[in-house]
Amino acid sequence: MSSDVRFTDFKSDKQPTWCPGCGDFGTMNGMMKALAETGNDPDNTFVVAGIGCSGKIGTYMHSYALHGVHGRALPVGIGVKLANPNLEVMVAGGDGDGYSIGAGHFVHAVRRNVDMSYVVMDNRIYGLTKGQASPTSRQDFETSTTPEGPQMPPVNPLALALASGATFIAQSFSSDAQRHAEIIQKAVEHDGFGFVNTYSPCVTFNDVDTYDYFRDSIVDLSEEDHDPHDREAAKEKILEGDKEYMGVIYQDDDSVPWEKREGIEGDMSDIPDGAPEDAMDLVRE
Ligand code: SF4
Ligand code: MG
Repeated sequence: MSSDVRFTDFKSDKQPTWCPGCGDFGTMNGMMKALAETGNDPDNTFVVAGIGCSGKIGTYMHSYALHGVHGRALPVGIGVKLANPNLEVMVAGGDGDGYSIGAGHFVHAVRRNVDMSYVVMDNRIYGLTKGQASPTSRQDFETSTTPEGPQMPPVNPLALALASGATFIAQSFSSDAQRHAEIIQKAVEHDGFGFVNTYSPCVTFNDVDTYDYFRDSIVDLSEEDHDPHDREAAKEKILEGDKEYMGVIYQDDDSVPWEKREGIEGDMSDIPDGAPEDAMDLVRE
């Protein structure tokens, strides 16, 4: 890893096809900044994406990358990390991808606590398929397929993570560039599964959860008297349904990644130190 890597080194030469103003631009920039700030470079970074507008991110970033199937990016990312723990693995996806078809994988990835990060671009809608209600859409959010709203409470991804035994739970906002990069950086630095739900507005299909809405509503935990190591305090914040918190909400500093636990680490001693090609050679043998 070189120390003079800039975040722009993580940009590919592909022009994003996201709509102008899409929150995913800011989310991706923060991911790239966090990777550069933590001493990573494109040669040791592996991005796994799901399906959706967010899923295109692996094309727009310069790193090793794999575009998984819908909802299945997390098990792929876990496989990459376990095949070569020397890689920095970052999984990215959307709220529809991660909290609907991928909800089962999310719960079990949280439980397993492999040392990687998971950034969800939460725009509270299915963007790629032109604006249907997603798991995090509001109860009364009117769409073409839910003309009176979904009539169900939205999934609280932070609560789902906490209940599944998460060791790192954070929430971010793609438009707050500095804070967003700092929060993702903390997730990357965490020893275990660093989960960041990122408000990433869809400017084309969601006229409710807009930049203005989040700017007016977000409460930055760095300006509050909140101790992320206090699980009870985190639980209170997470279950307060009427607040949009930003920051690290919960972190267990005693977290031991699954692959470093006694009895597991020893079984993985043949893992190569080098690039993913070396790992692939191992698989092909
Ligand atoms: Fe972004 Fe929405 Fe456009 Fe998809 S449809 S690229 S989420 S603004
Ligand atoms: Mg979405």
